[in-house]
Amino acid sequence: MIQLSHKNLMREACYIDGAWVGADSGATLSVDNPATGATIGRVPKMGEAETLRAIDAANAALPAWRAKTGKERAGLLRKWFDLIMAHQDDIARIMTTEQGKPLAEAKGEVAYAASFIEWFAEEGKRVYGDVIPTFAAGRRIIVTKEPVGVVAAITPWNFPAAMLTRKAGPALAAGCTLVCKPASQTPFTALALVVLAEEAGIPRGVINIVTGSAREIGGAITASPIVRKLTFTGSTEVGKVLIEQCAATVKKVSMELGGNAPFLVFDDADLDAAVEGAIASKYRNNGQTCVCANRFYVQRGVAKAFADKLAARVAQMKVGDGLEAGVVLGPLIDDAAADKVDELMADATSKGAEVVIGGGRHELGGRFYKPTILLGATQDMRLSREEIFGPVAPIFVFDDEKEAVGYANDTEFGLASYFYTRDVGRVFRVMEALEYGIVGINEGLISTEVAPFGGVKESGMGREGSKYGIEDYLEVKYALIGGI
Ligand code: ADP
Repeated sequence: MIQLSHKNLMREACYIDGAWVGADSGATLSVDNPATGATIGRVPKMGEAETLRAIDAANAALPAWRAKTGKERAGLLRKWFDLIMAHQDDIARIMTTEQGKPLAEAKGEVAYAASFIEWFAEEGKRVYGDVIPTFAAGRRIIVTKEPVGVVAAITPWNFPAAMLTRKAGPALAAGCTLVCKPASQTPFTALALVVLAEEAGIPRGVINIVTGSAREIGGAITASPIVRKLTFTGSTEVGKVLIEQCAATVKKVSMELGGNAPFLVFDDADLDAAVEGAIASKYRNNGQTCVCANRFYVQRGVAKAFADKLAARVAQMKVGDGLEAGVVLGPLIDDAAADKVDELMADATSKGAEVVIGGGRHELGGRFYKPTILLGATQDMRLSREEIFGPVAPIFVFDDEKEAVGYANDTEFGLASYFYTRDVGRVFRVMEALEYGIVGINEGLISTEVAPFGGVKESGMGREGSKYGIEDYLEVKYALIGGI
């Protein structure tokens, strides 16, 4: 059992229409601790029938919720935000136990997650329309914005709290109601957030959560004509399936999919700053984020120095159970994830990459992996095309700016990118040339609720956070008034 000060925060049930319930069949799924392999608890294994009930509940709750003023909804969301922050430590403990990230990172994620509820509570009060100057006498044009309706959210395991609130915040603030399905590896964090939404007084049916079979729940969501929008964070592969399934009912979709972030270091860069940025960007969440630097392109003259400095920092990183003090790298999420990193490493070393530090599984065993740096990475290695999702930093060498930008853009992905330089002209040239939704310039951490997060190309569509984030949950209505 996880020791918590809030007695009811860890729920082994789903929340549908204001009630905590199990699966119709009574079936459950076990959730394990990736650091130890021990079972933490069980959640309902729901499927189509329960999902349809959750959708109906969201639909029934919609008229009253959308009829509230932005300020009324904001009041409830603010209470939810306050409760999340009041229980930050408990939620972080649940998160570390089911997800593996170090406790300090988990606490940081809870605050980051809560910030989206706070931000959109405020933003929801400012959903302005337009009065457009008329095209003809006696007529007027008014543009208003309305909630899209019932929204479904499918979220991943790497940020079990923030990926949910980035969707729930704007959806609820805009006047939409919600059905969410968290990843099966990390449902307890999401369930805890919903416990607090209930305590905050968010009316029954406005937020519903179902756990269980992704295929069945996803199928019921995408087939439903009631669900008007699907918002998904996860792999490009699953995202494509969901987009296809949503076509039948022409749903709006927001997709935050995979990335293959380049991290460029030019020879005029502040190398120490680049190393700090690299540590933050690469090793946060043990390399398991869609904005983690996947490929380091370093200009030839500074490549060795950069690798050495990075290795000196990596050598200090403590690997272990995220609940242990001082640990900065937890386990990988599951055995399949660790196997994938092994495969990419074997491919890279067989093609000539040299291990600077690390290079395989950690002595702790299980899903622990040594933080690794590779030098001499090349474009023919699988890790130049595929998301590593582990603590491996491959360093590629380049000679000039054009070549570096060419490599950086040579991918079907376009989420986050990073570069380090002190040349102001280069800042603008490279920023404009990178085909990415997000560019960190002399910065390795780019996530904040105040800025628009999202990708181009096969990394997805839509933006989360900022004033742009609420637009994804709104429809524009144009009214032409004649006879004036
Ligand atoms: P990751 O690669 O990050 O594990 P996935 O794309 O596999 O991400 O999963 C992200 C989310 O999508 C999870 O909640 C997962 O349960 C869900 N999911 C996976 N496959 C499907 C599917 N076929 N239909 C609907 N949801 C799915």
